[in-house]
Amino acid sequence: MISTIMLLSFPQTPYTLSRVRLHASLTPGLSGPADEDGFVLADLSVADGRIAAIGPHDPSTPLQLDFGGRIVLPCFVDCHTHIDKGHIWPRKPNPDGTFMGALMASGDDRAARWSAGDLERRMDFALRSAYAHGTIALRTHLDSVAPQEAISWPVFKAMRERWAGRIELQAASLTGIEAARDKAWFAALARRVAGAKGVLGAVTYMVPDLEELLDFVFALAIEHGLDLDFHADETHDVNAASLRKIAEAAMWNNFQGRILVGHCCSLARQPDREVLATLDKVAKAGLSVVSLPMCNLYLQDRRADATTPRWRGVTLLHEMKARGIPVAVASDNTRDPFYAYGDLDMLEVYRMATRILHFDHPVADWPRAVAGGPAGMMGLEGAGVLEAGGGADFIVFRGRSLTELLSRPESDRIVVRGGRAIERDLPDYSELDDLMGA
Ligand SMILES: [Zn+2]
Repeated sequence: MISTIMLLSFPQTPYTLSRVRLHASLTPGLSGPADEDGFVLADLSVADGRIAAIGPHDPSTPLQLDFGGRIVLPCFVDCHTHIDKGHIWPRKPNPDGTFMGALMASGDDRAARWSAGDLERRMDFALRSAYAHGTIALRTHLDSVAPQEAISWPVFKAMRERWAGRIELQAASLTGIEAARDKAWFAALARRVAGAKGVLGAVTYMVPDLEELLDFVFALAIEHGLDLDFHADETHDVNAASLRKIAEAAMWNNFQGRILVGHCCSLARQPDREVLATLDKVAKAGLSVVSLPMCNLYLQDRRADATTPRWRGVTLLHEMKARGIPVAVASDNTRDPFYAYGDLDMLEVYRMATRILHFDHPVADWPRAVAGGPAGMMGLEGAGVLEAGGGADFIVFRGRSLTELLSRPESDRIVVRGGRAIERDLPDYSELDDLMGA
């Protein structure tokens, strides 16, 4: 196995990784025999920070840097996170592991402690972790309940600039949909989001005026040319069907931008006939859906009476994909009241998604759900795939097959950015101790 040091030693020199395994779904243009999990044995050439060529491994040419069949994936795209909440767990844990417990705890912490300085340090900690794990683009939601929007959005803009060239950072506003009842305030929020080149978002519930509120949100998005990003139906309640309402609103407003909808947990508990009718509308309206498998497994079906959870919390990604609806999985929360764990490691998300959502037997094109798929949802063409002419941004793993890749943490993976292996220093937790208020 080539060492990080060796790759770093010739960053300017063209080189070829011989005998790497690339996934067919993430390598447009690569022909060649794929194994049963979709991997193709290939040679990958890098020059001037870009991919010069990719082709099936040619046994007749001399081996250059022989990687012995190890898997190489494009850098990850994490399209749904909350790095403004991240890492507050030590000072504000979830008292009982429920969704309501999370909502109350994080709201209290926000009101008491989310100064610009506090946000900036926790967000930077989160981004350093994501970068070290191999993420190239990330969308965070930003709690935008007054007066937090005036604090968090300027911090986001500064962080996006600081991280430019390492992580492509996007932000979506996060408020309950009922915040749109205050039309003047919500219109001002939309102007702020547009000024920051952000995405307009909301959490949707089955409030009586949902359709009217959605129309107002869509009108603002159209006025400012904004994409939309919703948290929908993050509940076990079978009556929660705001995903369908969003699809209907997109169609009757003839919305032309991108719409990403997260969670949609209740869909998995609704009768088949309702589910199919909703998914037909979601497909027709051109919505994309992201499931948050770790956070949803943690929060959904949490029981106060110390009984065992009976369902997985995730939404119906297989049925969606079968209808042509673009689907993704993402990190969601990390070490905050909504999820006690996590480190923005998209390999962990993919490993957990494989187990929770059955992204296997066959693997098919599920690897797209952490790379090329979410890149399209975020409008980042060219990210999350490996192709000649594209950036040499990829991750070299030890695993040579799916079972090897997903059985160990792959903590010693090599992350290559612009053709060069990066230093992968995870920040130490103690860095944030003084923010945690001993
Ligand atoms: Zn979320």
